[in-house]
Amino acid sequence: MSNNVFDCIIIGAGASGLFAASVLTKITSGKTKILLIDGNGRCGKKLALTGSGRCNLSNRNASVDKYHTDSPEVLKKCLDSFDYKEAVGFFEDTLGVATVCDDGLYYPATYRAATVIDSLRFYLDESGCEFSFGSKCAKIFEKDGSFDVILENGDRFTAKNLIIATGGCTYPSTGSTGSVKTLLKEIVDTEDLVGFKPALTSLNSKMPGIKALAGIRCRGTVELTDGRSVIDSSEGEVIFSKEGGISGICVMDISGKAAAMLDKGIKPSVTVNLLGLSESVLHKMFEDRRAKFGERSITGALTGLMPRVLCEFVCRYASLEPSSMMSDLSDKEINALAASVCALKISVDGYGGTDKAQVSSGGVKLASMKETMQYKSHKGLYIIGEALNVDGRCGGYNLQWAWSSAAAAAKGVAADV
Ligand SMILES: Cc1cc2nc3c(=O)[nH]c(=O)nc-3n(C[C@H](O)[C@H](O)[C@H](O)COP(=O)(O)OP(=O)(O)OC[C@H]3O[C@@H](n4cnc5c(N)ncnc54)[C@H](O)[C@@H]3O)c2cc1C
Repeated sequence: MSNNVFDCIIIGAGASGLFAASVLTKITSGKTKILLIDGNGRCGKKLALTGSGRCNLSNRNASVDKYHTDSPEVLKKCLDSFDYKEAVGFFEDTLGVATVCDDGLYYPATYRAATVIDSLRFYLDESGCEFSFGSKCAKIFEKDGSFDVILENGDRFTAKNLIIATGGCTYPSTGSTGSVKTLLKEIVDTEDLVGFKPALTSLNSKMPGIKALAGIRCRGTVELTDGRSVIDSSEGEVIFSKEGGISGICVMDISGKAAAMLDKGIKPSVTVNLLGLSESVLHKMFEDRRAKFGERSITGALTGLMPRVLCEFVCRYASLEPSSMMSDLSDKEINALAASVCALKISVDGYGGTDKAQVSSGGVKLASMKETMQYKSHKGLYIIGEALNVDGRCGGYNLQWAWSSAAAAAKGVAADV
């Protein structure tokens, strides 16, 4: 390392930190002296897991309604100033990552998250960005318009500009342990901090028999209710988990609100339409099956439509014996069966913790940030990515937030070096 004084230090070499360093390098033509610090021995550990290793890096529909935050106004300005086109353009034109768009969702054309990480790392290596990996940042001091950064191994660095890109509080094995709170506890006002909570996660249920459904996947719709009204809904693949409960992208999308209800003592339930068909269509389908396969048990007659254990589960939910003959079902019982397939109500008793959640809610309030993601009047102090109180739905929205907030901070730093 040349010496310990930098124009800009970035703590966290995850999605937002790597991207901030790259944008800053680009707009200052490589003239900014940057140090990227990460507690891990390598960069982008969580980024490598994204999109099941395929990295869903953005979404054509990224707009403020796809996120939860304390300040939709600041979020909108930031997303608008560096939107999905700019992010994808930067990957294509600056980093050389070819991308593909599947139904509005952007991926690297290789469908490998490693392509994204390697391209960011290659670009930064070539431009002379410096790295310190393998020791976490332990302390930060702000004094006389600059920042002193001390690592756990005792190394010290100084810079006029500091970007905190330490992520949220999920998958702690990737290094994201919510450390923004401890690192900035003497700088950030307590009222600007929102506690981290799992946001995109699985939902647990103690419903009798639900564990037997572990591993079953079905395409349908989910509706989150508080017993009186529908709070949120989504559609896609529902996966029954081995812990007892449900998971899958559409479940994760409604999980933040379900978790908030549980934390307030409200017991939510999720109504799952297991086949994504209306009650009248199902009724007709089951009537036809009664006429055609009347000599079979209910399970036998429905096994071609859904897995056997799921047939048994919905039968019991409809107060029917799965071994009863299909021909013995009355019209009322056919109705009950159709209703249980299109509106299976799963009681929710808990939610997956930080080790299961893809994203956390909480962090430093967005309302306390300037447009450049500078914290209040603390000149040179920027916070980006999941360390801020912004969490998006599944579908590339969280990475788009990482890129947009990183670009805002990079522009802020560039204006000052
Ligand atoms: C399994 C999984 C799949 C996902 N898939 C997608 C997807 O397909 N699309 C999408 O949009 N989003 C996805 N996400 C969410 C997305 O990965 C995150 O929102 C994004 O990585 C956040 O970026 P970040 O830079 O804020 O934090 P991170 O990427 O978490 O990076 C933070 C970095 O800071 C480092 N760090 C923390 N504290 C310190 C410290 N004190 N000192 C030094 N270093 C420190 C960490 O080691 C880490 O490398 C997924 C998440 C998971 C877990």
